[in-house]
Amino acid sequence: METTPRLPDEHLAKAKELAAGQRSGKNCKLCYNRGYQGTDQNNMLVLCPKCVDTDTVGKQWREYVRDTPALTEMYGDYFDEDEEDTEEADES
Ligand SMILES: [Zn+2]
Repeated sequence: METTPRLPDEHLAKAKELAAGQRSGKNCKLCYNRGYQGTDQNNMLVLCPKCVDTDTVGKQWREYVRDTPALTEMYGDYFDEDEEDTEEADES
């Protein structure tokens, strides 16, 4: 049983921004052109699979979590998947 902390709203806004930035630009009835369908029980953004590049947003989101100390503290390596092929290995 893992418990995931609830995402603070201020960071949800950033997630929405990322989603909007990766939309295909097409009219989408699934998400009303927002790029997301809603939020899940942890206040995480549910991306629209139809018009959003979810892979890219996921990657950007993990980078954002990594770069945001408050989130890193909350989620630790929760978002760190084993695809550790980042070009810029900034280990400092
Ligand atoms: Zn959509």
